[in-house]
Amino acid sequence: MSGEKKISPTPPEPDADSTFFWDALKEKKLLIQRCGDCGRSRFPPMPRCPYCASAQYSVIEAGGGGTVYTWVVVHRAFDPAFTDEVPFTLATVDLDEGARIVGRLEGASPQFGMRVQATFFNHPSWTELRFAPQGSK
Ligand SMILES: [Zn+2]
Repeated sequence: MSGEKKISPTPPEPDADSTFFWDALKEKKLLIQRCGDCGRSRFPPMPRCPYCASAQYSVIEAGGGGTVYTWVVVHRAFDPAFTDEVPFTLATVDLDEGARIVGRLEGASPQFGMRVQATFFNHPSWTELRFAPQGSK
């Protein structure tokens, strides 16, 4: 039947630590934190380094390139807005800058170590980080 309304996915609820990340995605930028003491990059955003507990950090722009660490194939959507899109792949990606991050992988079957590039998918009120095989977009 025509006239069905597409459901929008539930938007994220950024907190004081993660607002910079979500705001940057809207501008097609991937920002992550880098520790001011040990130099390691991290995700998700958090007030202290998970490796050395330092509260010193800077925010850097990641190039969006990385390798697939692992993945799951979603067969049952947690959000009704994605019901028509299953099955899809959620990949855990090791960014070239060192942080490990999660996003939907589109455009290919996942492989361990596959090179991927960040893409940015716009929903009505927020932007979702996704990945595609490098060289495909
Ligand atoms: Zn540190």
